Amino acid sequence: MSDAATVPTHCPYCALQCGMSLRPTGTPELPAEVVERTDFPVNRGALCGKGRTAPSVLSSRVRLTEPLVRRPDTGALEPASWEEALAAVADGLRRTRADHGPDAVGVFGGGGLTNEKAYTLGKFARLVLATSQIDYNGRFCMSSAAAAHQRAFGLDRGLPFPLEDIPRTGCVILVGSNLAETMPPALRYLTELKENGGKLIVVDPRRTRTAEQADLHLAPRPGTDLALALGMLHLVVAEGRVDEAFVEERTDGWAAARAGAMSHWPEQVERITGVPVPLLREAVALFCDADAGMVLTARGPEQQSKGTDTVGAWINLCLATGRAGRPLSGYGCLTGQGNGQGGREHGQKADQLPGYRKLDDPAARAHVAEVWGVAPESLPGPGRSAYELLDALGGEVRALLLMGSNPVVSAPRAAHVEGRLRSLDFLAVADVVLSETAELADVVLPVTQWAEETGTMTNLEGRVLLRRRALTPPAGVRSDLEVLHALAGLLGWEKGFPADPEEVFEELRRASAGGPADYAGISYRRIEEERGVFWPCPEPGHAGTPRLFLDRFATADGRARFVPVVHRAAAEETDADYPVVLTTGRVVSQYQSGAQTRRVDELNAAAPGPFVELHPRLAERLGVADGERLAVVSRRGRAVAPARITASIRPDTVFMPFHWAGEGRANTLVNPALDPVSRMPEFKVCAVRLEPLAAGDATAG
Ligand code: SF4
Repeated sequence: MSDAATVPTHCPYCALQCGMSLRPTGTPELPAEVVERTDFPVNRGALCGKGRTAPSVLSSRVRLTEPLVRRPDTGALEPASWEEALAAVADGLRRTRADHGPDAVGVFGGGGLTNEKAYTLGKFARLVLATSQIDYNGRFCMSSAAAAHQRAFGLDRGLPFPLEDIPRTGCVILVGSNLAETMPPALRYLTELKENGGKLIVVDPRRTRTAEQADLHLAPRPGTDLALALGMLHLVVAEGRVDEAFVEERTDGWAAARAGAMSHWPEQVERITGVPVPLLREAVALFCDADAGMVLTARGPEQQSKGTDTVGAWINLCLATGRAGRPLSGYGCLTGQGNGQGGREHGQKADQLPGYRKLDDPAARAHVAEVWGVAPESLPGPGRSAYELLDALGGEVRALLLMGSNPVVSAPRAAHVEGRLRSLDFLAVADVVLSETAELADVVLPVTQWAEETGTMTNLEGRVLLRRRALTPPAGVRSDLEVLHALAGLLGWEKGFPADPEEVFEELRRASAGGPADYAGISYRRIEEERGVFWPCPEPGHAGTPRLFLDRFATADGRARFVPVVHRAAAEETDADYPVVLTTGRVVSQYQSGAQTRRVDELNAAAPGPFVELHPRLAERLGVADGERLAVVSRRGRAVAPARITASIRPDTVFMPFHWAGEGRANTLVNPALDPVSRMPEFKVCAVRLEPLAAGDATAG
């Protein structure tokens, strides 16, 4: 490739996977510049600041370019050769396994890893390490929606329709999503919806920039949107708005779901949620008067200890009104992380095998074992979910291999998780920068970034995309696939772990064939020619499946399932000691744990640090002025950040973004109560108290 070549690719960050092109510059300070790419339909050239500045993180100035090994004499991480570093990792994993058994070795992956990496990491854990203890940070991202999807429709794909359908529906209810900050280029789908005469309802405790676009904004108390959905379904029934023919022809279980909704009177729902009954009625009228409608959820309803039931309640609303399995209608989840979708399809989740197969299904085990050339009975069973795995570190799990994640910042009850990581016998981290988690490692392996390697990603629509290598990586770094190839070799697996991504993808195709997420008909060539292919795509001649469920749902009998749900309180309610609700989320100029975006000057200038958003009435009661430091205290710990006073939040609620480490680490406060089905922690609701600090106080902990 000549230096002047421009390579089409995709952004390294969120699940929108915006198209962009990269032009190599040949300079180490900024190795590539972003060129607008208008041929990719999802973003049509638009990018947010994170995507536009992503090449900054490729600069060797901000990244690791040589392995680091912790020296016993100094206790410090110091440069080492690749041979020494890989041997130390292999030794650490081998020793732990010999001393404590295979399940004493854990593997933790990430929702930003390519499909090829997620697939190889899962295979590495189950074959090379023979451990059941593997999960990934995507468990924190959308697993409640995935579980609700599975229960109702028999299949989980974030959106069962392409984004381009959104402007052509009649009404969208957007629940717990702030697209204007998390995926700015996607906001145009809502703008176009309104230009076409469609209606937008936003459900969010904060009047966000997205909520400002809405025809109707409902601001329930955090953790009560399950009751809100039930109240709307109650009114749908009471007002004779049920699509009886659809319910009869395409669903099962309506009677029990109906009974659950009818026990939630609108006035009772108003008391629980704080949303007045007239607004509830208005929402039902907007949704039911439209010819077609969609409900889209994100982390708000999902990151709760009842996230699966909350999403289930919104799905029930769609099913009862005939807004599912029909053109321009349906329920969808706006997946967060870049490959949150693909990452949960190909085997780095504790309970899954490639192709979205279940690890406890004998037929699935037999199929994948045959592709891998091993006996089905040699595959371990399901392991712990992400938080449970992190909580077990230093106890039953004594060594950890971690790729593409920074749980010191991103995990719930983060100070506790940091302590568990510190208590490990051995920790190896592969990353592009020295993240807060990598700082704790015994060995740090510097790896390539998105522009320096080839691999596929699956965006929130289920569209499989290809990112081709555009740049030569700095000397001294290797790809994650090369790392796993080398480690497998050192641990006695000379074959079966290729470092070439296309070779891995060809095997992934076979492993996924016949499974729910069937990639068998997808090839690198097709993805490039067609600008992405939607799974399922079972054979090369198949066109892919942009729209699911139009003829039948993916259950055995083709019918969708209502799941009866009732409201229940958050795992931790406010009381006299902790009288305020904390909810957490993101800001537009940082991404997840900030490991990459906090290295970008332009993004730091726009979003330099954490803050506590609170209502003027609450601020007045506390006697705190805008910008003054405030301690936020929960039963898990304490975080300190400046106050940001705004009338756009409920007076009983405060908001903190979670991108930062140190004293302002929001996840220190978060309650790790888990949803019983998805095992997703309750990031969105916990009880806190607020303590204004005098200037100079340093009381984080
Ligand atoms: Fe990247 Fe997401 Fe921003 Fe698009 S919206 S540029 S994919 S971070």
